[in-house]
Amino acid sequence: HRRAVLSAASGPGRTSDGAPVSLLLNAGEGDPDEAAAHDSEGIGLLRTEFLFLDRAEPLTIAEQTEFYTRLFRAFTGRTVTVRTLDAGSDKPLAFVETGPEDNPALGVRGFRTARVHPTLLSDQLTAIAAAAREPDHQAKVRVMAPMVSTPAEAEEFASLARTAGLGTTAEIGVMVEVPAAALLADRLLNHVDFVSIGTNDLAQYTMAADRTLGALPDLLDPWQPALLSLIDNVGDAGKRADRSVGVCGEAAADPLLALVLVGLGVTSLSTAPPALPAVRFALAHHSKAECRGLAELALAADSPERSREVVRRAAHPEV
Ligand code: PEP
Ligand code: MG
Repeated sequence: HRRAVLSAASGPGRTSDGAPVSLLLNAGEGDPDEAAAHDSEGIGLLRTEFLFLDRAEPLTIAEQTEFYTRLFRAFTGRTVTVRTLDAGSDKPLAFVETGPEDNPALGVRGFRTARVHPTLLSDQLTAIAAAAREPDHQAKVRVMAPMVSTPAEAEEFASLARTAGLGTTAEIGVMVEVPAAALLADRLLNHVDFVSIGTNDLAQYTMAADRTLGALPDLLDPWQPALLSLIDNVGDAGKRADRSVGVCGEAAADPLLALVLVGLGVTSLSTAPPALPAVRFALAHHSKAECRGLAELALAADSPERSREVVRRAAHPEV
């Protein structure tokens, strides 16, 4: 117990029996050095849209390279997961014209924008590759695409990333944000090194509930057993393929739910910086087997309220 309490205060994420769970940051705007000052194992989600907001034109390759290089230097020795541009729907960008859409959340967004603006993605990958090649940092670079729906899209993204030169300098992954991707996670993992689950969008698409609408919070609750069941499928696929499975949506910030996610097979959690200490603390008080037990309770519940309730009762009281 003493060891657990000591390791709960800082440093890498560990369950009480020593299983590693990487604790990473969600980052966007802001200074790379400031982000690097937080006690984390790196960045699990860099929302690159922020670089392009309020701009009439995209950044040049040189401008992007300069930013990524600064970031990789600030995080030398740690992980940096760069998500390629997630434009469209709730993240419109002035220069990404996708045509009129009645249902933009179901439209041309995320990786799908490469169908109409292929150079936007290839330029971004070129810039990330140039920064990854810089010799004066030892950041562990990862690159991932948002809103990938099929194994074929995962294959296509991996191929584009390799063409840009990222095959030897970075791990290549995709986000799981669409139920179709969660259902075929094992086949996605035939093409990429890792997956990261975006629970904000995965909840939206699983429950058919618009994430920008305030009216349906119960359906968007990340404790929804249907959502957890899809995450369980992704966790199983990750275990079988021996690949890392992250969660970078809001769900990772709830310490109790973080235990459930680890029990479902999630190996890294990425959250806004203020949530990390409580997640680290919760993990340090529960073994991997206890997390699995909590996950089974959560999966068996019929509602998010019930799921949260049974897990709260079964978890150690300090969480
Ligand atoms: C998500 O969908 O959970 C996610 C992490 O991406 P974003 O919130 O930027 O869509
Ligand atoms: Mg998303």
